[in-house]
Amino acid sequence: MSPLISLKGVNKYYGDYHALRDIDLTIDQGEFFSLLGPSGCGKTTLLRTIAGFESVSSGVVAIAGKDMAGVPANLRPTNMVFQSYAIFPHLSVAENVAFGLRKRSDLNKQAKTALVEDALDMVGLDGYGKRAAHALSGGQRQRVALARALILKPKVLLLDEPLSALDKKMREQMQVELMRLQRHVGITFILVTHDQEEALVMSDRIAVMFEGRIGQLADAETLYRRPRNRQVAAFIGKMNFLDATVEPAGDTYTVDVAGLGRVQIGADQVPEPVTAGPAFVGLRPETLDILFDDTAASAVIDGTVDEVVYYGDMTYYDVRIPGVEKPLNIAMKNAIGRPVLDVGAKARVGWDARSLVLLK
Ligand code: ADP
Ligand code: MG
Repeated sequence: MSPLISLKGVNKYYGDYHALRDIDLTIDQGEFFSLLGPSGCGKTTLLRTIAGFESVSSGVVAIAGKDMAGVPANLRPTNMVFQSYAIFPHLSVAENVAFGLRKRSDLNKQAKTALVEDALDMVGLDGYGKRAAHALSGGQRQRVALARALILKPKVLLLDEPLSALDKKMREQMQVELMRLQRHVGITFILVTHDQEEALVMSDRIAVMFEGRIGQLADAETLYRRPRNRQVAAFIGKMNFLDATVEPAGDTYTVDVAGLGRVQIGADQVPEPVTAGPAFVGLRPETLDILFDDTAASAVIDGTVDEVVYYGDMTYYDVRIPGVEKPLNIAMKNAIGRPVLDVGAKARVGWDARSLVLLK
């Protein structure tokens, strides 16, 4: 299958400022794709080059096999939902949604009304047409913006931080609804977000961006379990980093890890080739264990609790181990009968070499 969207060697300069650097990516028909990265890394710029609101300085943006150079935004098969979704408060919900049809003078009133009703139905707002837009909640306003953007069934819907104005509960609810909606309509969604959890939850694939570049492009599990460098590893979730010295040994690697000692690491734990010499290993907090009894662990190290943060369902510990400057962050699920340790307590830390990831 040929990709719906393809970017090849895309660069964008604002004067001297290099906002997009050698972007190569393809996005498939029906994919839920996210652009994730810290503020200012170029996510909106990249989205706008796909939409046609921004020209590229070099490289090619193609949609459905067609080079989009010189094709204005209104002639591209894309539509955009902006960060500050512009709902007209003095209009009704139906009038707001019908705004998405303003260029279709070929449609009569009846046809327009039917399309508006379909669109409202699609986003779960059937029966809301006559209501005043100013009386809606934040989540409902967001749905109106979605209905308006989807009413003409674009091939691609571009969403720039669409949920950032909502509170946490509403945001989580809308994440699930957006996923459902996307599956239902089968339209390709490209979502911009700086919220890694949001990207992990919703996307088929994610491009993680830093300073105008793609740091890694993969599905959520690969990004989490096999980040290809320290920057990606630190941005996605929490990660402990330990200094290490590497000796490649055929298909595997012998690694001397500060605080943990010598371990064997399999090639599948090394996302990017690493040469002999200094490197890092990454260890996710939930792959470490505090052992409260004689539970089996492949390796154990004695440490001291430095910090305790109790979250109800989880307790996060910082545990100091000999030979490592920074305490290890350990995420423990709370359970009946399992104590919460105090600062200063001795902790036996269980770890497993198979959960290490080796990074340059
Ligand atoms: P993000 O959406 O990831 O927060 P943007 O794509 O909005 O980042 O911006 C990337 C960088 O490009 C920022 O440093 C921003 O200041 C700069 N930039 C964006 N738009 C313009 C513009 N029209 N003129 C000059 N610089 C811009
Ligand atoms: Mg932005």
